[in-house]
Amino acid sequence: MDRAAHALEARSLSREFNGFFAVRDVDFRLRRGSMHAVIGPNGAGKTTLFNLLTKYLAPSHGSILHEGEDVTRLGMAAMAKRGVARSFQISAVFSGLSVRENVELALLRGRGLGWSLLGRISSHPALIDEADALLRRFGLSEQADALAGNLSYGRKRVLELATTLALEPSVLLLDEPMAGLGREDIERVTGLIREMGEGRTVLLVEHNMKVVAELADTITVMVRGQVLAEGTYEAVSSRPDVMAAYTGE
Ligand code: ADP
Repeated sequence: MDRAAHALEARSLSREFNGFFAVRDVDFRLRRGSMHAVIGPNGAGKTTLFNLLTKYLAPSHGSILHEGEDVTRLGMAAMAKRGVARSFQISAVFSGLSVRENVELALLRGRGLGWSLLGRISSHPALIDEADALLRRFGLSEQADALAGNLSYGRKRVLELATTLALEPSVLLLDEPMAGLGREDIERVTGLIREMGEGRTVLLVEHNMKVVAELADTITVMVRGQVLAEGTYEAVSSRPDVMAAYTGE
């Protein structure tokens, strides 16, 4: 297959914690342009796999490829430069900055510029227009001048997505984007993720099956550190072994 067909690929990837394999010998491919979800019961190794792919954790064995190139030894910053961005948890939203400043800062970071430039460049019309467009797209215009720290939990998650998209990644990795959200926010964030997936590759770890069924074209089911099944929602959800894994039989 064309080497660029896979945005990310894991080969025999394992991660051990004191003799326990949270992820064992996983072969995983994230097809370019796909919207791919990783699901599985608690403790299946989803977060560990996500953290390995995003370079938050180093593997014990195996390798990771980005567009066919071995990136196993690269760190998070190098991956970001290659256009692979993960949604950071809320801790990466700067509480002391306004919503607009958070978006402007992310736009600057997406261009490889640092935060020290914020004061100087934020008045640049192009940046203001871009920030405005992002704020509108994410429904944050009305709260543009509010301190990010004063936003509700749901709004912070939306801001987090806006700042991740501001980095203009080609591969977007989202860790439980619906966690802690109410119904309305889930609907909004589902729509936003669908939009964000246009022209990009998206990987999400998500517990909400309705969202997974709605968004993902490919689903990987993990159980006990390994891949149990892969395919469309219809295909994996009709498998008895997948049902059994969820019910703990
Ligand atoms: P999931 O995201 O599917 O719930 P995790 O990847 O968080 O699963 O965890 C998989 C297994 O690895 C669990 O049994 C968990 O206790 C273990 N594990 C994860 N991280 C660590 C760690 N830092 N130290 C020890 N064990 C860990």
